Amino acid sequence: MEENNIDPVIYHPLESVEEVEEYYQAIKRERLTHKLSASRPYCYWTIETYDKSNGIRGGGGLGVLAADMRRVAEQLQVPFVLVTPFYPWESHQKMQNMEQIDYHEERNYHNFGFNFVDTVQIKTATSAVELDVIEKQLGSSRFLCITEPNFGELYSGESGSDHRLYQEVALGFGGYQALKMVGLRPAVIQLNEVATFFAAVARLDELVSSGMDFYEAVVYTRKHTLYTNHTLVQAAEATFHYKQFEQYVFPNIKSVAVQRWLSDKFTNGVIRLSTPTVEIAELRSGVSKLHARVANYHDINGSKIKFKSVTNGIHLRTWVLPEIMTYYHDHGVLDRFDLPSSHDFEEAVDKISASDIRRLKTIGRKRLNEILEHRTDQYGNKVHIPEDAFLFDFKRRFVDYKRPTLPFNDPDRLARILEENNAHYILAGRVHMGDSTMFAKLMSTLHIIDNHPILKERVHYLPDYDEELGLGLSLGANSSINTPIVGLEACGTSWMKDIANMGLLISTHDGGVADMPSDNYLTIEGKNEKQETENLYRQMEVAAKAWNNDSELEYWIHKELKAYLDICSGSRMMRDYLNYLF
Ligand SMILES: *Cc1c(COP(=O)(O)O)cnc(C)c1O
Repeated sequence: MEENNIDPVIYHPLESVEEVEEYYQAIKRERLTHKLSASRPYCYWTIETYDKSNGIRGGGGLGVLAADMRRVAEQLQVPFVLVTPFYPWESHQKMQNMEQIDYHEERNYHNFGFNFVDTVQIKTATSAVELDVIEKQLGSSRFLCITEPNFGELYSGESGSDHRLYQEVALGFGGYQALKMVGLRPAVIQLNEVATFFAAVARLDELVSSGMDFYEAVVYTRKHTLYTNHTLVQAAEATFHYKQFEQYVFPNIKSVAVQRWLSDKFTNGVIRLSTPTVEIAELRSGVSKLHARVANYHDINGSKIKFKSVTNGIHLRTWVLPEIMTYYHDHGVLDRFDLPSSHDFEEAVDKISASDIRRLKTIGRKRLNEILEHRTDQYGNKVHIPEDAFLFDFKRRFVDYKRPTLPFNDPDRLARILEENNAHYILAGRVHMGDSTMFAKLMSTLHIIDNHPILKERVHYLPDYDEELGLGLSLGANSSINTPIVGLEACGTSWMKDIANMGLLISTHDGGVADMPSDNYLTIEGKNEKQETENLYRQMEVAAKAWNNDSELEYWIHKELKAYLDICSGSRMMRDYLNYLF
């Protein structure tokens, strides 16, 4: 095995068909076992998966969601296939002399338990590319991946580039052939964002070229395809040119009618994949209530697209301290499907005591420190957070709208809060390769820290943010900071990891957090960034004080769990998708 520092998750899948039927009945879908089967599974297409223990590293929330969907399916025995690339290369970052360095590591699927099945071919106008089909079965779920030595990294190259189009074509057409090759027929296809659009085209083309009338085939494909959108603004989406389609896409389509249909979706010689995607997918979802409402998408005639909201969830058994999961199960907070036990859920939450919370978080802090043992900060030093110190964290991709530098607007104020409350602050993040604006912001924040004796002692930057750090911080931090500019976060899931682990959330009212009213957590409000910063500092003080006051601590943890644990539950998300699909 290659380096893998995450403890293997112990799954307790449902054991008998009766139990599975019980879950389906719990979600009000009787006889769902007749709609989904091992040979007719739920097929989930994604360009990104974040599952390091299976050798596939993602970039952010979209990949975590895909990995968690599969984990939930495995736990609940839902027949499920994750179709995704296995990237032979992955990118990492490290700090050297206060500079961030990008480096790349090779990944070999043989080291992660994948079996080679056979090869499939996709075509370009001038040649053919052979793709390895590999698979790995995990309970009722399986990975079905395509790969080849020159496939490259996740998101390598610019987003409208030939290489990206090639990767998307390989995943769609190659992945669909792979599905046939292993003898599967999709019951439904879920497209995790438009980069997976070609899977639906492959299906449509198969139906038409095997004799079905074109319009019938469109109706059939539409009915069984769900497009999940994560982006707010259609205009921000990459475009491809007709010439690129002639080179990479059309050679893979047998039916002239399908080619013509796709050609008609170009405007002024360019296409956005969302345009044909909303036509081929009758089912469309956004990833939180707010996002489904505000996502601004139009079809080719200019009509606004409606999205159903299925708020993201997380696989609780992956992201929550096992001791806390046991506590939830023993105390009637979660049932054996990991859904909040319906009738006495609120009562059960109200019984969680401050001393239980502190005891469990102490275990979480230990786990975090174990993980920190093999990570280093911006100076190349190990970080250890004392057991009695309060810990804030900000752990996110470093993108502008998430505002990782907001807490550093007033360095002295931040320093005072940390010192007065014996608190530390961990900042973990990844700057996208080539994002020079965010890179400069990160560097100037590191200089602020370096020049301030208190911050230098109490603020720790950890590069190469990944799921291990995401997990460790959710377990071991007392309070997490989430500051997206309101209206720009589609859902976010790191805050779910924090709440489910009994941490105090300080957040702007955005994404999935806004599924519930803002009095359920330590909210940051304000008309402008100055007010928001002031509010953030005040809430940091409230959080640190609450930790030492039993009734305050119970008040906030109970509020958070009652409002959000159901939303956090990946089983709830699976239930919502199954209800929408069938
Ligand atoms: C949970 C997680 C995410 C999701 O982040 P959001 O910003 O909340 O969407 C991204 N990356 C990693 C490594 C994670 O563990």
